[in-house]
Amino acid sequence: MSEIRVRFAPSPTGYLHVGGLRTALYNYLFAKSKEGKFVLRIEDTDRNRYVDGAVKNLIDTLGWCGLDYDEGPGKEGRYGPYVQSERLPIYLNSVSELVKKKKAYYCFCTPERLKTLREEQQKNNLQTMYDKHCLSLSSGEIEHNLSSGIPHVVRLNVLPKKIIRVDDLIRGTVEFDSETVDDQVLLKSDGYPTYHLANVIDDHMMKISHVIRGEEWLSSTPKHVLLYEAFEWDKPSFAHLPLLLNPDKSKLSKRQGDVAVEDYRSKGYLKEALVNFVLLLGWNPGDEREFFLKDEMIKSFSLERVNKSGAVFNIEKLNWLNAEHLRHKSDEELLDLLKTDENRFPDEFLLKVIKVMKERVGFIHEIHEKGSYFFGDPSEYDPDTVKKRWKPDSRVNLEKLLFAFKLLDNPSKEDYEDALKRVAGETGSGPGNFIHPLRLALSGIGGGPGVYDIAAILGKDTTLRRIAKALEKLP
Ligand code: GLU
Repeated sequence: MSEIRVRFAPSPTGYLHVGGLRTALYNYLFAKSKEGKFVLRIEDTDRNRYVDGAVKNLIDTLGWCGLDYDEGPGKEGRYGPYVQSERLPIYLNSVSELVKKKKAYYCFCTPERLKTLREEQQKNNLQTMYDKHCLSLSSGEIEHNLSSGIPHVVRLNVLPKKIIRVDDLIRGTVEFDSETVDDQVLLKSDGYPTYHLANVIDDHMMKISHVIRGEEWLSSTPKHVLLYEAFEWDKPSFAHLPLLLNPDKSKLSKRQGDVAVEDYRSKGYLKEALVNFVLLLGWNPGDEREFFLKDEMIKSFSLERVNKSGAVFNIEKLNWLNAEHLRHKSDEELLDLLKTDENRFPDEFLLKVIKVMKERVGFIHEIHEKGSYFFGDPSEYDPDTVKKRWKPDSRVNLEKLLFAFKLLDNPSKEDYEDALKRVAGETGSGPGNFIHPLRLALSGIGGGPGVYDIAAILGKDTTLRRIAKALEKLP
């Protein structure tokens, strides 16, 4: 079998959509699982939609997700350049070849004529499509128009009454009636190719073996098939991935939530979780597994297990995966993620916090939020906890603890525990009557890791200071 080569071919219109990430991931996994090549190609021929900085952003985001490409911008291979706006002469040559073969033709129709035609067709409930008016121009007329510089496009000559077959690896054979396929513009009046032309030429020239892309491109595929036939090129295999849907089954849209990978990144999702989540949008391993690391994904992925039906974007699943991946990471990895410009605590201290908080959070930033007392004295005491836990004997119990803890020498978690239990025993009162006020004094809240852990991590000075402060502030 010839080499497997796939591509992710985004248009740089601003940001990487989660649907784009899914397409990129499936292409990447397919290539890696078959020892093939994953190519990144930038499809920037629609100059109206071009957004400055979008290419860099796209490449950065793919890199953050760990989807390194084998060939693409900045990683030139044999078939570059990989940015379509740098390939214009290739498209011009190919399109004149098609014109020569009479598979495509010049069209000089004015926007006004096209508008009238469209309105006419709409009025008569007909499909709006070009009426092949310019196909019958004589070679003399064409020459004359071209040399007088009349604006023009080049159109594909779609023959009527033909069934166009698309063999799709996910959907099976899908048939299209050529009567419904417009004489597609291939070359625009600005000299740029349309998506269809550039996409087919590049897939052929870059020796792409499998075109794996979103379902929204399925309706373009008959045009592509006709182009391959017109050029007399072998077609790649096609695989169209299911649509991404909101929970209400409408098409995933910005209106119902975030769609940009960057949004998830800035909300603190781990890349491993996001990629794992996106993997499951339309693919399943055929068993109960949901948690996947990259190696496992590569081993398990196959196009055969991609569903036809739309994949619902379920944010709870993403949150669950985030917590799972967070717990799977080593404390040292979490340390790198926890350290920020604002958080300048020593590594040794942060590692201790991570150890006790890891199981209690779904996001790294929650260590700062839920465990804020590790990084500063509580500024207030949670009123509900005070109401529930601050009993008439709490003050005197806390005073006893303060006294007992003062005598400890460099106490460990166990030392705090022994001291508390001893004091409780002497008082003849259950340890809970000491533990709750102590927790409130140290953290300001009612829940969290073991109170002896908290005291040991904070250290003796802070522990004593916070008990004293609570005695001052609480009733
Ligand atoms: N440039 C198209 C896009 O923005 C590529 C579609 C394809 O993969 O053929 O998604």
